[in-house]
Amino acid sequence: METKLAVPIAATSLEQAKQQLNTAKAAGAEILELRTDYLENLSVDLVRKLIDKVKTAVPSIPIIVTCRDKKEGGAIDQPLQLRIDILTSAIKAGAEFIDFEYENFLLLQNQEKIRQALSQMPNGRLILSTHNFIGKFDDIIKLHSDISALYPTAIPKLIYTANHINDCFEAFDLLHNTSGAAVVFCMGKAGLISRIIAKKLGSLVTFASIDDKSATAPGQLTVEQPKTTYRWDSINSNTELYGVIGSPIAHSLSPILHNTCFSDIGANKLYLPLLVEGGKDEFYTFMKNILDRPWLDFHGFSVTTPHKRNALNYAKQKNGVIEPLAETIGAANTLIVESRATGDERRISAYNTDYAGAMGAITKTLGISRSDLKDWPVTVIGAGGVARAIVAGLTDAGAKIKIYNRTIEKGKKLAAEFGCDFAPLDDLPNLNAKLVINATSIGMYPNVDETPLPQQYLKKDMAVFDTVYNPAETLLLKQAKQAGAKTIDGLSMFINQAAAQFKLFTGKNPKPDLMRKTISNRLALKKADMT
Ligand code: NAP
Repeated sequence: METKLAVPIAATSLEQAKQQLNTAKAAGAEILELRTDYLENLSVDLVRKLIDKVKTAVPSIPIIVTCRDKKEGGAIDQPLQLRIDILTSAIKAGAEFIDFEYENFLLLQNQEKIRQALSQMPNGRLILSTHNFIGKFDDIIKLHSDISALYPTAIPKLIYTANHINDCFEAFDLLHNTSGAAVVFCMGKAGLISRIIAKKLGSLVTFASIDDKSATAPGQLTVEQPKTTYRWDSINSNTELYGVIGSPIAHSLSPILHNTCFSDIGANKLYLPLLVEGGKDEFYTFMKNILDRPWLDFHGFSVTTPHKRNALNYAKQKNGVIEPLAETIGAANTLIVESRATGDERRISAYNTDYAGAMGAITKTLGISRSDLKDWPVTVIGAGGVARAIVAGLTDAGAKIKIYNRTIEKGKKLAAEFGCDFAPLDDLPNLNAKLVINATSIGMYPNVDETPLPQQYLKKDMAVFDTVYNPAETLLLKQAKQAGAKTIDGLSMFINQAAAQFKLFTGKNPKPDLMRKTISNRLALKKADMT
């Protein structure tokens, strides 16, 4: 059975349930979970009425009836006997699934009524569930086999909190090695990918809420996210996986961008946000987890802060191709898992598309070639990862660069490495450049009223490039335009570097107009969300 997207109906009254039902149906719910533990004045009769309502309104959508124990995440602490009566009457009223806590089912006196109701309604299935809201189960494999042994036709549901993305792999292993129906995924923000990969690995359901406010478990997606951002309808067991590794990562626009372009070329590929918290050790463990499981089908990664240097060093250990410029920059923003094996190991190749993305944005917007940049006086404000890639590219083209940075030691170090000049930020009034580049986060949303360079220093004969892409037109670019300067926006760089990654992932060029439209729409939506 294909994994279904289950939407919880967590209403306090029948009236509220009706509204939620309509929203869930419109949003594309494939199963409805009636969380009856949220109902006020709960009774068997009330739940029967609710089931009738649902079966009349959406007869084709299967339902799971749950009346959760408070200990396992229930909303209101209802008496155990009432909860059992509700589940047994739900099965008799035509619910396709009822969900009961495994721990309570262990007690013989709690089993009898449920077993009896199920024997009378052979189409109804029992889900035996267990949740760990703190962390991993001690032994998930044993727990799964204990549940299966207790009631072989039950569907084991094992849900635990992932405190790190590396905790998700036990859930993947269980799904991969289980032939019967099961529901397995992780809660928490580190568990997000498990809710989506659940479909590739054949979990019976994954849960998504109607909206942010109605989430019934930590880290639950809204139903719109898997459908629109994560290509839910096209995921199957053969889907190849990609993703962006970083921390934080929730804000990243790369998933919507790559998934839209995958969809446009009809590729069976899915791109995920991969929150890898911590440093080198956590990153290396994550990569090992991926490489140890070829059946997960991960083929490539974008890499962002703070793992670009880790990515390069890891690829060096894995004997893949290292793009010379990634080596010069000392950072990789793209990793490709090579399908060819060297001995027992798969190779990882590393590239840096930030450099090419920035150089492309500059040359295309200004209508020049790279060689035209020779001897150009260029100011780079910032000395972080993006500044480093840009300085490497411009040095390669022969530009005369002066770096300005808040943290003096960091700026001096970058300048010395690439043979550039350095000055502190308060020397910016004396700048003398044909091209000024902001490679800091100053002016980025929500601080849109900030600029790294006051208006009076902007000149008509300058070109001004702001790497910040949210908003696309920063205050710096607005004021540069007013001064008559040529402007280059960060969106162009972002799109160029993503397009180069897409080529590495698929061998095909994405459509630049589609990329720009996708990003602009998403940025507009985000602003609407936050105001
Ligand atoms: P990073 O490595 O953390 O470096 C941040 C830089 O910004 C450092 O030089 C830092 O100075 C400086 N900075 C931050 N806040 C500052 C402030 N309030 N005043 C003065 N300087 C400040 O980050 P990164 O990866 O280089 O990214 C920098 C920016 O590039 C991002 O914020 C993003 O907007 C943009 N970006 C664009 C693209 C694109 O494709 N267009 C891609 C990635 C990033 P210190 O050294 O003193 O800390």
